[in-house]
Amino acid sequence: MTEDIECIVIGAGVVGLAIARALAADGYEVLVTEQAAGIGTGTSSRNSEVIHAGIYYPAQSLKAKLCVQGKHMLYDYCRQRHIAHQQLGKLIVASTDSEHEALELIMTKAQANGVNDLQWLNAHEAQALEPALSCTAALLSPSTGIIDSHALMLAYQGDAQACGADFAFHCPFIQAQAFADGGFEVSFGGVDPMVLRCRVLINAAGLSAPALARRIQGLPAAKVPTAYLCKGSYFNLQGKSPFARLIYPVPQQAGLGVHLTLDLAGQAKFGPDTQWVEQENYDIDPKRSQDFYAAVRRYWPELPDNALQPAYTGIRPKISGPNEPAADFCISAHNDHGVTGLVNLFGIESPGLTASMAIADHVKALLARH
Ligand SMILES: Cc1cc2nc3c(=O)[nH]c(=O)nc-3n(C[C@H](O)[C@H](O)[C@H](O)COP(=O)(O)OP(=O)(O)OC[C@H]3O[C@@H](n4cnc5c(N)ncnc54)[C@H](O)[C@@H]3O)c2cc1C
Repeated sequence: MTEDIECIVIGAGVVGLAIARALAADGYEVLVTEQAAGIGTGTSSRNSEVIHAGIYYPAQSLKAKLCVQGKHMLYDYCRQRHIAHQQLGKLIVASTDSEHEALELIMTKAQANGVNDLQWLNAHEAQALEPALSCTAALLSPSTGIIDSHALMLAYQGDAQACGADFAFHCPFIQAQAFADGGFEVSFGGVDPMVLRCRVLINAAGLSAPALARRIQGLPAAKVPTAYLCKGSYFNLQGKSPFARLIYPVPQQAGLGVHLTLDLAGQAKFGPDTQWVEQENYDIDPKRSQDFYAAVRRYWPELPDNALQPAYTGIRPKISGPNEPAADFCISAHNDHGVTGLVNLFGIESPGLTASMAIADHVKALLARH
């Protein structure tokens, strides 16, 4: 097969960009195709912008390994490239004595993941750090931080371009055919429809990754998971933040609980909550704030009435349903599905931003084996 380009990466979110950067730096000839007009308009612009420590995920899971590895890579990269970030730290707080066991479990999980810097604080010690906080105990995670995710994506894009990668926007993937002897023929729509041949095809289409994979002829259907969408709404706090660190309750099913995060300007926001939805729709229902007041007042009783303003929503690209245990990242390559040169990235929910550089190295290693 004569190829037009060696490698096509579908999707210019933080994950597709990190992969394009890593592969281009490794000498691959890369084209990134994106249906939108620019980079990072999907989930990568609709998240908490937190650099996660790697605390909650099951030991040996890809989420745990790639988050811990990715966090270190990300802090180094931010320092090198002057990407705005702050290592603020976070407190995970118990609101009743009965939640202490959950904190102990979190501490054990974190240690199993190689996160050994968590500190157990009693209520006094936690309130010495954060006087507005109400809690019975807390874990301090010093390695948690926040980042300007758009600056990060621009840096990834710049690095990829400096290594020769090209970008095609308004270029939606339509379908592909995998050839038995290797390589792909890939069709794109948009104003300038085109068909390209490539040797390596990376599906980093986020929420749409399973739907796209179903349009790759030659890929066994059983190797494509069901997609579930879990929406999260955020509400901004009017006025000054009473906290200098991120504040999280003990985790809830499907999410981390209504937590407080700060942006680089010091603006506090609460969220995301969890709402299973059928379709991609980013409207925010102001009425959802009602549940936030009760959840937030468990750790900040002084939250004034009417202080929460609707901010934005994001949708978690899940591959496990409402009553199932949370699935791991599913990065499916030849060793899983048998199609040489194809990597599908499914279920890249949180901590995908934190893990992005490590995910890229993982993809590179999977391709190197074939
Ligand atoms: C509410 C929420 C909060 C989160 N908070 C954090 C956090 O604090 N820290 C953290 O580490 N992670 C967080 N995450 C996870 C993180 O945001 C994601 O893991 C990450 O953004 C996923 O990036 P992506 O590139 O895979 O997907 P996306 O950003 O969605 O990019 C996919 C791209 O593919 C494009 N695309 C789709 N279909 C096609 C097609 N047919 N043809 C061409 N292009 C196509 C889309 O337009 C999009 O640009 C959060 C996620 C959510 C939902």
